[in-house]
Amino acid sequence: KAVGSVCSRQGQAAVTGLGSVTGHQVRRAGHAENTNTFIREALAVLDLPPAMEKIVITPQREMTVELIINRDDGKPESFMGYRVQHDNARGPFKGGLRFHKDADLDDVRSLASLMSFKTALLDVPFGGAKGGITVDTKALSEHEIEKLTRKFVQEIKDIIGPFRDIPAPDVGTDGRVMAWIFDEYSKFEGYSPGVVTGKPTWLHGSHGRESATGRGTVFGIKNMLQAFGEGPPADKTFAIQGFGNVGAWAGRLLAEQGGIVKAVSDASGCVYDDGPSGIDVPKLLRHLHRGDDLSKYPHGQQLLRDEIFDVKCDVFVPAALGGVITDPVARKISCKYIVEAANGPTTPSADLILRDRGIPVLPDIYTNAGGVTVSFLEWVQNLQNFKWTTEQVNDQLKTRMDEAFQSMWDSSQEHGVPLRTGAFTVSLRRVVRATVNRGFN
Ligand code: GLU
Repeated sequence: KAVGSVCSRQGQAAVTGLGSVTGHQVRRAGHAENTNTFIREALAVLDLPPAMEKIVITPQREMTVELIINRDDGKPESFMGYRVQHDNARGPFKGGLRFHKDADLDDVRSLASLMSFKTALLDVPFGGAKGGITVDTKALSEHEIEKLTRKFVQEIKDIIGPFRDIPAPDVGTDGRVMAWIFDEYSKFEGYSPGVVTGKPTWLHGSHGRESATGRGTVFGIKNMLQAFGEGPPADKTFAIQGFGNVGAWAGRLLAEQGGIVKAVSDASGCVYDDGPSGIDVPKLLRHLHRGDDLSKYPHGQQLLRDEIFDVKCDVFVPAALGGVITDPVARKISCKYIVEAANGPTTPSADLILRDRGIPVLPDIYTNAGGVTVSFLEWVQNLQNFKWTTEQVNDQLKTRMDEAFQSMWDSSQEHGVPLRTGAFTVSLRRVVRATVNRGFN
């Protein structure tokens, strides 16, 4: 497997070799190392050739680019962008693009690896990748974000493409950003809607893509509750940490199915409602769509942002950033289940605490896989130049989430391991089989 670290400054790409930047070599307990801990745990229950550990952990290619734009005031500013291509044994690299002030190479590396195992678990024919730009989008105008996005595409255009690597939305990016990527890439390569997914529906996007991650999370919750003999989500209580695209869709769909959303938090604060029907989610969404802060929501009770972790509920749904369920949080959290709608929300040591406390965790690579699953359906539609109905998309999503749950559950039962390890064993088997079958020469 070719390994290269590509550094590029304003188009002058220089291949610098392996360097010291691969996930395998980094030993500090950063995000990538957290993901690798989970992978190693699954490797330990599988009987795989020893060389496989390094092969599945090491990203295939990492690209770091400097992006210089002129700000609206005419002054230049430099930003750092990344694309990590973790694995493509099972199909083209695939994964989102994160615009966030804390996004860095280590973060992106971990997220790229999660994508390889997510696509494998859902059995969509993609590998895994992730990209990011270290930027506080709130400090930039729309025009500046567009320029930054286009600059990024100019820098990475040679390593992406409908059959190479297909970006998608993630934290801080949306359909608008995807439309710019599609447009910029098409200037170089001709009309290419399949280079990116999560586009607006009127621009080769798929029906059901925007809601897909939250909808998939709810399918996952249903499957989990049923497997644990709890019955449907109706009348169960939920707390949702993070109310962006994923958290908001999950909350809306849970409420539609009779679930009681007791608490919701975002960067601005936390709303709590202990009443019999919990928070009126559509009303809260109308408030947010008007551009008002969650912390200004006049109904229910306002808590501090992190007090969401103290809310007693059946299901706690982290739906924002990684690393939020730390040891102290894991010790005090008072829920029956944790459902990881975010990527990497639980640290490995917190995961052990939750295990000891008997709190099952529905893992990220399963829970939030609805997004990339519908991305796959969007890509297929783009290649066919054909549009499916919302119903067709949602049906396919459900079937795939149900099948993946069964494989994860069966493997966890077979090996007597938590669901996360069960999920990784399924994925690792698939990735390794493809890697070995394709050969190394
Ligand atoms: N960013 C999403 C994720 O973490 C979606 C990726 C995609 O659709 O390619 O799964």
